[in-house]
Amino acid sequence: MTGRGVIHAIIYNTFCFLAVASHLRGAVADPGRIPEGMEAPFQSEFMEIKSCQKCTGKETWKPIRAHHCKECGFCVFKMDHHCPWINNCVGQRNYKYFCQFVVYILCSSIYLSFLMFLSFYCLLTSERTKQHMNRSGYPIAFIMCIVAFVEGILFTFFTYEILTEQFESVDENQSYID
Ligand SMILES: [Zn+2]
Ligand SMILES: [Zn+2]
Repeated sequence: MTGRGVIHAIIYNTFCFLAVASHLRGAVADPGRIPEGMEAPFQSEFMEIKSCQKCTGKETWKPIRAHHCKECGFCVFKMDHHCPWINNCVGQRNYKYFCQFVVYILCSSIYLSFLMFLSFYCLLTSERTKQHMNRSGYPIAFIMCIVAFVEGILFTFFTYEILTEQFESVDENQSYID
């Protein structure tokens, strides 16, 4: 591996590590669960006190902007959506980790596509790389490069779409459900 290769490997793996770390934090963090049996902290004639009919057990207060999640079975404050990628609800308390996760996946996807593009370019222009094609295992590596390139492009568009939606939500202070 060349010096340049080491630098690319460090940058790419840093993005991957950050993505895994934020994924784990988003998955295990409390999304903003309304504790079972919680009562409204105060009563006011101007405020209608609602309780969730779907939460099992004791009657639980349902604040404005809280939503009940079918998958989790409890109410989540400022719930955005139930995310199958992190297998957790995205709400007030883990929204930041979810956004970080999407940002790092976007960065690693862009970087992956760039690296694969660079590999093709070297393959087409460098004589030394062309000679490598005759080695065993190299054609398979070439096919894997194409697969990784397509994957990188797809996830770049996918995460970019999610991120623009999330930035709009933050800008308008409105969750996806709201
Ligand atoms: Zn509920
Ligand atoms: Zn949920």
